[in-house]
Amino acid sequence: MSGEFEFIERLTELLAAPPFGQVWIGDDAAVLDGGQLFATDVLVEGVHFDRSFCDMADVGWKALAVNASDIAAMGGTPLAAVAALVIPSDAGLADAVARGLAHAAEAFRCPLVGGDTTAGPALMISAAILGSSPESGAVLRSGARPGDSIYVTGTIGTAGRALADLLAGRDPDPEALLRLNRPTPRLAEGRAAAAAAATAMIDVSDGLVADLRHICEASGVGATILEGAVPVMGSAFGESTSVGGDDYELCFTAPDPEAVDASFDQAGLAAPARIGLITARADLILRFSDGRDRPLQGTGWEHDIG
Ligand code: ADP
Ligand code: MG
Repeated sequence: MSGEFEFIERLTELLAAPPFGQVWIGDDAAVLDGGQLFATDVLVEGVHFDRSFCDMADVGWKALAVNASDIAAMGGTPLAAVAALVIPSDAGLADAVARGLAHAAEAFRCPLVGGDTTAGPALMISAAILGSSPESGAVLRSGARPGDSIYVTGTIGTAGRALADLLAGRDPDPEALLRLNRPTPRLAEGRAAAAAAATAMIDVSDGLVADLRHICEASGVGATILEGAVPVMGSAFGESTSVGGDDYELCFTAPDPEAVDASFDQAGLAAPARIGLITARADLILRFSDGRDRPLQGTGWEHDIG
């Protein structure tokens, strides 16, 4: 076994299947009885963040943000979170982490109602979150159908660009750095997509192509992305921007473009970019403005777990 996804597949085989009407492993959040949403995510020093590139309050914020983003990806609303912290005892980090967590809990209207705290060799924050489904039901990864339009909120590759700059010793664009360290879960956008009868949705945590591929695999469909239609910060869409993760924008599919525009407009939100179409043939294609097609290879970020 080597990859994160192979492990998850093996684990799924060993576990019981969910009762009818529930969704367990395989989506951004589990959907439990009555539509309650349940998800968790972990941030580990040296893997997800580096002390020299961000403030520890950023890490507290991001721990809740990435969890709320998984609720957003179901079209849901956060109800409450718990956070388990491992904090190195020598470094005086605790105060900043607490401030970041509290700030995020208030910003996302997601009370932090419990957790666990222990000393350890590296900073780690693991949060779990409960949420409620939208009235129309949680938007899964598995409902995309040929002919649906594909949408993405915000810009893609922004956080990845800030990280690339930091790693290369360059000063990142301040706005891009904010996107990397203080991502905003697109909760209102997720609800607007659900209200517009979105058929599938995911948050862009591993990279647009990788995450769209998760939708396509779960739905048994393919996709054609129009190269010029993808909103990318400062450069053209390509293999490098497509694999950069950590944007925490939403990618969703929906059958009726007018309904999508009306729903986002009604919620006072910027219209999402329509970047392509779901197809029946099961592969991902990038289409250039001159009509040339190229298969999209981007597999995105996957943890090697040995
Ligand atoms: P996301 O990026 O949305 O957080 P992941 O790619 O991390 O999702 O995980 C894919 C799916 O596998 C999710 O449904 C997640 O809940 C599930 N999963 C990941 N790790 C585990 C685990 N250790 N135990 C059970 N389910 C897991
Ligand atoms: Mg997710």
